[in-house]
Amino acid sequence: MTALSDPIRYLEGVGPEMARRLARLEIRTVRDLLLHLPVGYRDRRETTPIARLKPGVEASIEATVASVRPLRRVRGRKDLEATLRDPTGMLRAVWFHQPYLASTLQVGQRYVFSGAVHAFRGPELHNPEFEPAETEEAHLHVGRIAPRYALTEGITERWLRARVRAALDRLRPPPEVLSDAWRARLVLPLLPDAFERIHFPSSVAEVDPARRRLALEEILALQVALKLARRRHRRAHRAPSLIPGAETARRFIGGLPFPLTAAQARALGAIEADLDREVPMRRLLLGDVGSGKTVLAMAAAVRAAGAGHQAALLAPTMILAEQHAATAARHLEAAGLGFGLLTAGTPERERRRLREGFASGEIPIAIGTHALLEPSVAFRSLAFVAVDEQHRFGVRQRISLARGGDQDRSTHLLVLTATPIPRSYAMTFYGDLDLSLLDEKPPGRLPVETTSIDGARREVLAGLLREEMERGGSAFVVYPIIEESETLDLEDATTTAGALRDDPALASAGIELVHGRLPAEERRRALERFRSGEVRILVTTTVVEVGLDIPDATLVAIEHPERFGLAQLHQLRGRVGRAERAGRCVLVTRRGLGEAARRRLAVFQSVSDGFRLAEEDLKLRGPGEFLGTSQHGFPSFRAADPMRDQDLVEAAQALSEELLDRGEAESGGGRVEAWIETHVPGAERYLASG
Ligand code: ADP
Ligand code: MG
Repeated sequence: MTALSDPIRYLEGVGPEMARRLARLEIRTVRDLLLHLPVGYRDRRETTPIARLKPGVEASIEATVASVRPLRRVRGRKDLEATLRDPTGMLRAVWFHQPYLASTLQVGQRYVFSGAVHAFRGPELHNPEFEPAETEEAHLHVGRIAPRYALTEGITERWLRARVRAALDRLRPPPEVLSDAWRARLVLPLLPDAFERIHFPSSVAEVDPARRRLALEEILALQVALKLARRRHRRAHRAPSLIPGAETARRFIGGLPFPLTAAQARALGAIEADLDREVPMRRLLLGDVGSGKTVLAMAAAVRAAGAGHQAALLAPTMILAEQHAATAARHLEAAGLGFGLLTAGTPERERRRLREGFASGEIPIAIGTHALLEPSVAFRSLAFVAVDEQHRFGVRQRISLARGGDQDRSTHLLVLTATPIPRSYAMTFYGDLDLSLLDEKPPGRLPVETTSIDGARREVLAGLLREEMERGGSAFVVYPIIEESETLDLEDATTTAGALRDDPALASAGIELVHGRLPAEERRRALERFRSGEVRILVTTTVVEVGLDIPDATLVAIEHPERFGLAQLHQLRGRVGRAERAGRCVLVTRRGLGEAARRRLAVFQSVSDGFRLAEEDLKLRGPGEFLGTSQHGFPSFRAADPMRDQDLVEAAQALSEELLDRGEAESGGGRVEAWIETHVPGAERYLASG
C-alpha cells in the first residue's frame, strides 16, 4: 500500500534515478504523481479494421505481425518497419529512431496498435504504440481512453502511465473529508474515484467531475491553512481598539477636498468597525487603479494616531513612499498630526531622528518602504499597518506575518492591492483576509481612451507629443529599457529623451528622464518638476508603474507595449485620467508583432475595467502562468481554476471553517495541525511555513 504523501522513489518501478527525473516534472510524492494530470487523452476504445483506415486520424487496430525489418536510412538513422495484417487487409507500420522495438515485436503475434494514420503508398501507421492483444496488463495504453502527459527527457508516456496505474492500484484510500451532503450538492465523486477517472476515464464525461473533485482538494488545502493561521492569530493576539480616534478621523475625512465615493464610504465603514474591536483587523482592500485606496489607509492611520497609538504605511517603492508622504503632508495638517518618511534613501542623521521619534511615540505616523521593517526600527505603540501593493508578498510570508512573532500584542492590518485580481482569486488566495471591494471610481473620471500608432519613425511620437503640449497637457513616455542594448533591438528611454530634447517645441515644454538607476534625490526632484507642471514630458521606465499619482498628466505613450504584461499596461495607463481631465493612452507599436501579442494588445485597447482585464488576462495566459509568476506569490494549482470553479471557491469558504471546527473538536485541544495533515492532504504544504 502507498500513501499520497509517500516519496515517489519508493513506488514500484521508480527508484532513485527515475525519481530524479520525475523531480524535473515537480513530481516528488505519490500525490504529485497523481496530480500530474493528463494534458489530454487519446480515445482508443474502438479498433478499426485495416480496410477502413483513413489517413489523418488517430486509430487503433488489432492485427498480427506478418514481418519486421530494420530500415537503414541516411546518417545511420535506424528505423523499423513492420507489416501488419488483419482479416480485412495489410498495413505498413514505421517506427522512427526506435530500432530496439524489434525485439519486442514478435512475428505471428497479435497486438493492438494505436497511432496516427498517414498516407504514403496507401495508409500506414507512424510510431504506433502497441500492446499484446491478449494480455490484461493490457488496455493500459491502448484499447481505451489513454492519458497523455507532459514529459521530460528520460520519461516516456508508457512508463509514466504504468507508474500512475501502479500508484492507483496500491493507493491507501485517503480519509474522506467531504460529507455525502456536500458531495451531492457539488456533484463530486469520492477522492479515489476522482484520481482513477481523471487518469483512466471510461468515458469523457467522467473527466470534469473528477478534475473538480481534485480542484476542491487543492482549494481546500490552501483555505484550511490560511484560515487556521487566521484563527490562531485572532485567539492569541489583541490589538487596541481605536474608538478613541474616531473624532480625529472624522475631522480628517471632513477636511478632504472631496467627498468619499459610496464604495469608499462602504469600505471605510467596514474598516472602522474592525478597528474599533480588539480582534486584530486582517482586511484586503481590492480596487481598480485610481479608485482611491490611499485616503482610506490614511483615514485608518489617523484613527490610530488619534487614539494615542501609531500607524505605519508600507509602500513597495521609494517613489511611492515619497508620494504617500506628499499626500500626507497635504491632508494630515488639518488633523494636526505629524509623520515621518523612512526609505533606503533617508540620510543617516534623519534616520536616527525618525527611529527616536518612532520609538518614543512622538511621531505617530510612519511612511516608508521595507526599511520600516528592519529590526532597528521600533515603535512605542504600533496599532495599525497598511501595506500597499501587497501582491508582491507571498502567501507563506503572509501567514508568518499574520502570526506576528511571539508578542501577544498585534496590529490591525490593511492590505491594498494595486493590480485588480478577479474576486474568486482574491477569495482563494487571500482566504485569511476579509474583503472590501472598491468597484467605483471618483465621479467625473473619464475612461482613458486607448489607441495605437505605428512607431517605425520617431517623428510620429514627436508629433503626438507636440500636439499634446499645444493642448496644454503633460505626458509620460514609457520604455521597456533604460539604455540602448546590444542584444535587444528596442528603443530606450535615454536615447529617446536625448532625441526629443533636440526638438525645440518639445524642449520648451521641458523634458525629464527618470529611471531606477537615477539617484533617489535626483529622481525625487525630477518627479517634483513634473508634478508641478514645470516640466511636462517625463521619459521613463516602469519605475512609474505602480501607484504614481500625478493628477494633471494627460497622456501616457508606451513604446514596445508588447514587452509588458496586461496588468503592467493597465498600471501604466492608470497614471493618467486621475482627475477630471480626460486621459489618453497610446501604444507605440512596430510591425511584425506575433499573433499572441496582437491579441493581447487588442484586448487591452477594448477593455478599460481592471477587474475585467484581469479576467481576460487569465483567459489568455491560463491560470498556470497567471499564478505562476512569482510576482503574485500565489501557489500554483494543478487541477483548480478559481475562475471556472467559482462555486468550489465559495463552498471551500464554508467547508474550511467546518473542517477546522471538526479538527479542533477531534484533536481535543491537541495539535490541530496533525489532524489537518491526515484529513486535508496537501495542506501541510502551506502549514510547514511556521
Ligand atoms: P489608487 O486606488 O490607485 O491607489 P489613489 O489612492 O492614488 O488611487 O487615488 C487616486 C486619486 O484620486 C488621488 O489623486 C486621490 O486624491 C483622488 N481621490 C481619491 N478619492 C477621491 C474621491 N472620493 N473623489 C475625488 N478624488 C479622489
Ligand atoms: Mg495606490
